[in-house]
Amino acid sequence: MSAAAANVAVIGAGMTGAVCASLLAARGVAVTLFDSGRGPGGRMAQRREVMDDGTELRFDHGAPCFTVSNDEVARVVGGWEARGLVAEWKAMFACFDRETGKFRDFDKEGTMKKYVGVPGMNSICKSLCQEDGVVSKFGVTIGKMDWLQHRSSWSLASLDGKDLGSFDFVVATDKNIASQKVSGLTGKPPPLDLSVFPHLSAMIQDIPVRPCFALMLAFSEPLAMVPVQGFSFHNFDSLSWAFCDSSKPGPHVPPNSQSWVLRSTTEYASKVIDSMGPRKPSADALAKVAEELFREFQGTGLNIPQPIFMKAHRWLVL
Ligand SMILES: Cc1cc2nc3c(=O)[nH]c(=O)nc-3n(C[C@H](O)[C@H](O)[C@H](O)COP(=O)(O)OP(=O)(O)OC[C@H]3O[C@@H](n4cnc5c(N)ncnc54)[C@H](O)[C@@H]3O)c2cc1C
Repeated sequence: MSAAAANVAVIGAGMTGAVCASLLAARGVAVTLFDSGRGPGGRMAQRREVMDDGTELRFDHGAPCFTVSNDEVARVVGGWEARGLVAEWKAMFACFDRETGKFRDFDKEGTMKKYVGVPGMNSICKSLCQEDGVVSKFGVTIGKMDWLQHRSSWSLASLDGKDLGSFDFVVATDKNIASQKVSGLTGKPPPLDLSVFPHLSAMIQDIPVRPCFALMLAFSEPLAMVPVQGFSFHNFDSLSWAFCDSSKPGPHVPPNSQSWVLRSTTEYASKVIDSMGPRKPSADALAKVAEELFREFQGTGLNIPQPIFMKAHRWLVL
C-alpha cells in the first residue's frame, strides 16, 4: 500500500479498530474510524450511572482487565503505561466453591500482571482514536459496503442510507459486518455480501456467539467476607465471575463504598436470550435478570447486603 495515497476506513472503534487506526495513521495513512456506539471502546467498555441522589458511579462492565503474553504487545502496552493510559491492577483472584462455601486456588506469587485502562477500560481506545491522522465518527452504523470496480474503491453507506464516502481499503473489525446473525438485530442484510467467497462466509457464520450478562452492583460498604478482588464461581447455575471494580486504580464509587461487576455464565445468558430474542431487552427484562443473578450471589453465604445500585447489561458476545 502506498501510505501517502491510501485512504482507509476502519469499522469498529474497539481495541482492534483503535489500535489498527492509530498504527496506520502513524505511517501516514488517512484513516476514518466508524463506530455505531456513542464513543470508542467496544467491549472494553465503561458505563457511567447516576444514582437518584446525584452520585456518579462508573463500572467497567465489559472486559475487566487484560494480560500480556507476547513481547511485541508488551512493548506497545509499556508505552501506554508510560503515558498513563493503563496501570497495573494489583488484584488477587481466586475461585469460590459452592460445595465447600470457601475460596480456593488463590493467585500464585508472580501470576501474570493484570492491566486496566485508567480511569476506565475504554480510556485506551479513547486516546488512540484522538491521535493525529485519525478521524473518528461515532453513532454511525455501517449498513452497506460496495466494491466500485470502475473506481477501484469501496463505497460505504450508513444503516439509514447516508453516503459515507469511498475508500481505497476497508478494515472491518467485527464479524457482524458479514454475518447473517446481524439481520436479527437490524432487520436488514449484513453490510458486506460475502457470497462470492463461500468459504470465508461459512467460516464467519461458524464463529460461536457466546452471550453473557454483566451485573453492576454498588454497596455502601465493602463486602467483608470476600478476601479477593476477583473470583470465579464454581458449581453455580448462572454466575461465572465477579470483579471488585472499585479496587482498580482510578475513581469509581464514592469513598468507603464498593462496586462489583458480576458476569453470568453463557448458558444462563443463552437461555434468557433464546426466550427474549436478539433485540435490545426491555428495562423490565434486564431488571428480572439482575434479580436472578443477585439472588444467586446472596445464596453464596458471603453475607451480601442489599446494594445501593443494581443494573444488568446484556452482551451478545463475550
Ligand atoms: C463481559 C466481558 C468480559 C470480557 N473479559 C475479558 C477479559 O477478562 N480479558 C480479555 O482479554 N478480554 C475479555 N473480553 C473480551 C474483550 O473485551 C474483547 O475481546 C475485545 O474488547 C474485542 O475488541 P474488538 O475491537 O475486537 O471488538 P469490539 O470491542 O466488539 O469492537 C467492535 C466494534 O465494532 C463496532 N461495530 C460493529 N458493527 C458495526 C457497524 N456495522 N458499523 C459501525 N460499527 C460497528 C461495535 O460497535 C464495536 O464498538 C470480555 C468481553 C466481555 C463482553
